Amino acid sequence: MTRKRDISVIETVDEMQSVVRSARADGISVGCVPTMGYLHDGHASLIRHASERHPIVVVSIFVNPTQFGPNEDFARYPRDLARDLEIVRQAGGTHVFTPTVDQIYPEGPRSSIHISGVTEVLEGASRPTHFDGVATVVSRLFEAMLPDVAYFGQKDLQQTLVIRELVRTSPLESVQRVRVEVLPTMRESDGLARSSRNVYLSAEDRREAPVIFAALTRGAELLEGGMHDLDAVEQAMRDVLNSVPRLEIDYAVAVEASTLRRPAAQGVLDEVALLIAARLGTTRLIDNILVRTGRP
Ligand code: AMP
Repeated sequence: MTRKRDISVIETVDEMQSVVRSARADGISVGCVPTMGYLHDGHASLIRHASERHPIVVVSIFVNPTQFGPNEDFARYPRDLARDLEIVRQAGGTHVFTPTVDQIYPEGPRSSIHISGVTEVLEGASRPTHFDGVATVVSRLFEAMLPDVAYFGQKDLQQTLVIRELVRTSPLESVQRVRVEVLPTMRESDGLARSSRNVYLSAEDRREAPVIFAALTRGAELLEGGMHDLDAVEQAMRDVLNSVPRLEIDYAVAVEASTLRRPAAQGVLDEVALLIAARLGTTRLIDNILVRTGRP
């Protein structure tokens, strides 16, 4: 264990487990924030929230190879551990867990966890192995960090549904017992959701990227104004996105928030999720907002 001021950096699963087990034996609660590093204010908001609730807050930094597809950005994913440690320290994290790939996958890519249902649409449709990688790494990270509560961002809404399903169906006691909390998306002042991948944006991309949040906002205004025709809401979002001709839409949908699908029966939904994935230049961006549409 090496110390960076008041933060402990832990690299092995054994050491991580023993730190948390001894804390828990003393009745100390443990929060965790799993990340892939290159931290920004979205991550910091999760860490700050956790640090107000738990004496121990473990931030994992692990760029998980199994959730990247063969033509995705694993090799060039941004990394800067020294900067990350400073952000964790300032946000009140106490431990950083930076395992190697061998620590997380000691047997190599022998087995993985598949969650069915919610993984089959949207991100799962265009990235077929992505959520197997996410479910598997989160299970392994929970086994290592043994948290009471794990904090995730709504920015990755579909991922949060996958993780809730992982916890609900896991045979492992250390995974089942984790409480999952989802916190709001942090944005730049022009609405762009903060993301480690925003560093890939060229100056032109960056100027145009807020159109994604503008489209989501337009969809939300229509729903809040009483529009129940979800096709019309999707079309309105696409109309806004099309104001940037360079932007390639992957999806722009209005769906039931709990399933990310359109329900078979027509009717007023309690909560609608608006989700967009789009490419600008070489960067793929995702964002979403939730809109309560049912009666209060
Ligand atoms: P990542 O490092 O991108 O895998 O993200 C780690 C965690 O931070 C995930 O739970 C994300 O949903 C969350 N996160 C990423 N971006 C934001 C944001 N802009 N606001 C809040 N949480 C975020």
